[in-house]
Amino acid sequence: ELTDRTALVTGGTSGIGLAIAKALAAAGANVMIDGFGEASECEALARSLADEHGIKAAWTGADVSKPDQLANAVDRAETELGPVDILVNNAGVQHVAPVEDFPVEQWDRIIAINLSSAFYATRLVVAGMKERGWGRVINTASAHSLVASPYKSAYVAAKHGLVGFTKTVALETAAHGVTVNCISPGYVWTPLVEKQIPDTMKARGLSREQVIEDVLLKAQPTKAFVTVEQVAAMALFLCSDAASQVTGANISMDGGWTAQ
Ligand code: NAD
Repeated sequence: ELTDRTALVTGGTSGIGLAIAKALAAAGANVMIDGFGEASECEALARSLADEHGIKAAWTGADVSKPDQLANAVDRAETELGPVDILVNNAGVQHVAPVEDFPVEQWDRIIAINLSSAFYATRLVVAGMKERGWGRVINTASAHSLVASPYKSAYVAAKHGLVGFTKTVALETAAHGVTVNCISPGYVWTPLVEKQIPDTMKARGLSREQVIEDVLLKAQPTKAFVTVEQVAAMALFLCSDAASQVTGANISMDGGWTAQ
């Protein structure tokens, strides 16, 4: 259903971004994955997407906090795959520290990667989307775009800001067949989360189940993780015709976290 569409997915080499890239490729879209990783592995990943789904795919290691590198990534996508119809601004990082100790460099880095990057990329593709009368911009926000947790000032500020950016561009593009939305997951089961479990078990003297339910999923009433496949399915839905009237939205997938 996305045949002949081209997608650029930032943070596409891991976790949620990779799952979204796979879902878009499975639906027939050409995919440029951007993200960090061993070049040979990332290139192999792109090749396997292309081979498995009969689409065009490529990888770029552009740092999304650098506007010129993102511009190169968009150029490459447009030359090698086709005009960017679907932009997934998904790359993101975290740093946890009390505000009085929060390093200025970490603040600037998180604002650049989690917020400014969406502007850097979106501004480059919106004109083409409007011209062609179809486009999808999907921003991975977070439950932290709606509520806060202590010690995550930069992340929470960036994700709240991303929602404001999303609403603004949604209004600017609404009459042109372009939708701009956020998906806001709660805790998603990614390798990143899984790796924290053994250390937390040791540090707090808890069982695996206690760490998952009482520490990680404390805020999530369902006491279950969101899966990357579920987030990818939502992204795919946002690309469908059924979602053409969904724009400027911030869609929660958080097991009830922000209902509290
Ligand atoms: P992840 O660590 O598995 O993936 C992050 C991706 O971003 C990787 O591909 C990495 O290479 C890329 N990346 C990091 N810095 C980059 C940079 N400067 N330039 C280009 N690429 C860069 O994390 P994930 O859990 O899949 O997170 C993806 C998004 O989902 C993030 O925006 C994150 O804030 C958001 N999110 C995650 C969760 C969760 O529980 N995992 C919950 C809510 C929101």
